[in-house]
Amino acid sequence: MRTDNVYDIVIIGAGAIGCAVARNLSFYDAKVLVLEKNSDVAGETSGRNSAVVHAGFNNRPGSLMAKFCVEGNKGFEELCRELDVPFKRTGKLVAATCEEEIPGITGLYEQGLANGCEGLELIDGQKAAELVPGVNAVKALYSKNSGITNPFLYCVSMAENAAENGVSFRFNEAVKEVRYVAGAYEIVTSEAVYGSKIIVNCAGLDAPAIAKSAGAGTYDIYPCRGEYCILDVDKDQKLPMPVYPAPHAGIGGLGVHLTPTIEGNILLGPSAEYIDNNDDYSTTSEVCQNLMDEAEKLVSGVMDIKLIGAYSGIRPKLTSPEVGGYSDFIIKSEPSLPGFIDLIGIESPGLTASWPIANMVFDLVSEHLDLKPDADAVRTHHTFKKIREADEETKAELIRKDPEYGQIICRCRKVSKAEIRAAIENPLGVRTMSAIKYRAWATTGRCNGGYCMPKIAGILIGEYGMKPEEILYRDKGSNMFTGEVK
Ligand SMILES: Cc1cc2nc3c(=O)[nH]c(=O)nc-3n(C[C@H](O)[C@H](O)[C@H](O)COP(=O)(O)OP(=O)(O)OC[C@H]3O[C@@H](n4cnc5c(N)ncnc54)[C@H](O)[C@@H]3O)c2cc1C
Repeated sequence: MRTDNVYDIVIIGAGAIGCAVARNLSFYDAKVLVLEKNSDVAGETSGRNSAVVHAGFNNRPGSLMAKFCVEGNKGFEELCRELDVPFKRTGKLVAATCEEEIPGITGLYEQGLANGCEGLELIDGQKAAELVPGVNAVKALYSKNSGITNPFLYCVSMAENAAENGVSFRFNEAVKEVRYVAGAYEIVTSEAVYGSKIIVNCAGLDAPAIAKSAGAGTYDIYPCRGEYCILDVDKDQKLPMPVYPAPHAGIGGLGVHLTPTIEGNILLGPSAEYIDNNDDYSTTSEVCQNLMDEAEKLVSGVMDIKLIGAYSGIRPKLTSPEVGGYSDFIIKSEPSLPGFIDLIGIESPGLTASWPIANMVFDLVSEHLDLKPDADAVRTHHTFKKIREADEETKAELIRKDPEYGQIICRCRKVSKAEIRAAIENPLGVRTMSAIKYRAWATTGRCNGGYCMPKIAGILIGEYGMKPEEILYRDKGSNMFTGEVK
């Protein structure tokens, strides 16, 4: 094995957990590598969720989920400030639509208090309607501290900050096998063999397969797909905060809810359907119709906004369809494998809890490695300026300094050429259409990229020397062009 392929710590998976763990460890003097099978961060569950920063009332008192969710929520503002990531404390409603649902929301309120959640209040239907016009509630749980973020930018910024501090990222490298040989680990990927003293297995849906390959034992995951519909921008601010239904026993998630996104759209979903494969991200018109019907029952008037897209995410559930509900996160050093740390079943609220989880992983790593703070490491990370977020004076200043800020490439989202360039030149070196999409938010509007995608391809070809057939939408095999036509 080449000595430059030997690391102190190898992190498997660049979702929210892998990126948070990488950033956390980047503040110390260790040689760290992140291996990711996809072409970019957040390609799986971390980029396919509701993007809600939960308060912590949904989880059983005493569980890691409850503890880390409450901690994660409290620290999210500061974390996003450090990382230059958008975050809004919108508040959130859980609506009881009839008398029978009231005990469910009262139970959540009491569970929240037991978990140490702050800012919870049981309110009547009239107060709920003042907060969210059109909500169908006889009573509601109002959680003042719940919020929303952009999960892609969250992962991108964590990873970029880690990379600035010296963490290496290798994309398109699937870990095939992990072997414990003579007191250290050999990690066999699709491209190379690496050595490491410590492994952090945060491969999401594939984490049980990695654990099994290393000899850590068997964990059963039950993939449970959640489909979403995306509505166009909510210009009239009909939905100022997420609205969730009262809890119902047995379902695999929190129920079909309506969530405003940081960028102004509305998400409807997710559904909950146990599936056989952990990579089937299909969406279906039947489920989409059902989501719209459920959403209309919860908040009326929102369905006037046009449907512009759909996606799905898969929960790595540790509970079978028969059991339903939630198990707790599994986060532990495997007793039979020194320095092998497993993170299994990191379903909701894993996004909210990701930084406290990374702190716990740091403690587990410290039991095996003497980590000394790196005096040169930085905690703050800046992303490029967005013209659509700037006031008139800042816009003028941006355009004066860089006239490409004045050339709009994505008309739906008002993304300028300067931003497209900054996204193309991202510090992680990912040059795919979806990398540009998630960093600049281009192609995400109602035309779904019909107008700007060819322009972005033109920039990649004309100004970055890419051949048309080299341009990938996302992962290997997703080539957008086969060549040039006259
Ligand atoms: C429908 C849905 C809604 C949710 N809503 C919320 C919410 O509103 N708020 C909240 O806090 N949480 C929410 N969650 C939970 C949250 O999204 C997850 O807990 C979190 O994203 C998990 O992050 P992760 O890094 O563990 O997993 P992932 O994001 O799945 O990352 C694992 C990474 O490992 C990589 N990988 C897998 N196998 C290999 C391999 N062999 N080699 C190399 N790399 C590999 C994958 O490509 C992936 O990038 C939701 C989840 C779902 C499914």
